[in-house]
Amino acid sequence: MKLLRPALLILFIMLVTYLCFEIAREYSAQSQRSVLRITLCDVGQADAILIQWQSTQVLVDGGRDEKVLKCLWSELPFLDSTLELVVGTHPDADHIGGLPLVFDQFLVTSLLLPPVSKETADFAALRTSVSREKELMGRVVKARSGQTVQISDEIRLSVLAPLAKNEPHTAQLENSSETALSAAQGFFPASKGEVNDWSIVLLLEFNEFSALLTGDASERVELALLQVGLLKDIDVLKVGHHGSKSSTADAFLDAISPETSLISVGENNPYGHPNTVVLEKLQKRGVQILRSDQLGSVTIESDGERYWIVP
Ligand SMILES: [Zn+2]
Repeated sequence: MKLLRPALLILFIMLVTYLCFEIAREYSAQSQRSVLRITLCDVGQADAILIQWQSTQVLVDGGRDEKVLKCLWSELPFLDSTLELVVGTHPDADHIGGLPLVFDQFLVTSLLLPPVSKETADFAALRTSVSREKELMGRVVKARSGQTVQISDEIRLSVLAPLAKNEPHTAQLENSSETALSAAQGFFPASKGEVNDWSIVLLLEFNEFSALLTGDASERVELALLQVGLLKDIDVLKVGHHGSKSSTADAFLDAISPETSLISVGENNPYGHPNTVVLEKLQKRGVQILRSDQLGSVTIESDGERYWIVP
């Protein structure tokens, strides 16, 4: 038996070396990948969208529960547990309910929220978890139209709503110059029923490619954006409010003329989402419809000129 020990040791060293090599190779391949990746996470009747460029990850909404973690674990590169930016589009449970779990499992370096609060257990849980995150001190930014986040030289995330009268303002991922907010201050309570219209609306642009993420914003916001001239022709639309008929106005669709639409929706949900009227509006315009209740998580990649759906 004693003779076997050196052989076992050599085998063990070879195995460890091989594993280290494989890990380094995968990490290098992930960080070198020069495509923008957008994943509509399958989080049931809720929203969670992950945007990835090389080693930068932005999570827009965190679903309502632990489902978001499964998506993040499968999507984030090995050895990368940092989300450079998390956006909570508005304080409803199906958008922020999973965020405290995200804060538990991942390092979040910036958080973007609309300037409204909601007196619910989910929002209180978000506040508590944010106040525990030392890295987030002074890096919780109140969203307003005109802010931009530069993901790379060529990739930009612009806040279109909530609409603000203020001058355009730039919030960088690093060293944000925004006023520091304590987790419990600076948010005013939204009156009942209007929380959806405080949704952060984001335009993602990478050279020729663009995508619009509208949270649960209603037609009122869509038409306001049209009126102030902030809409443009885009490629991909994350359909507002899970395909509810309160969103996706005809004039809005005509202004942005998307080719592909993403609908985040739970199977057999009690709201009847997506609404048939919305589906018909999209079909009439020849817009491709990708639904999370039918396809699970959906990923789109772009090189800045073309985009494709990852099979
Ligand atoms: Zn929602």
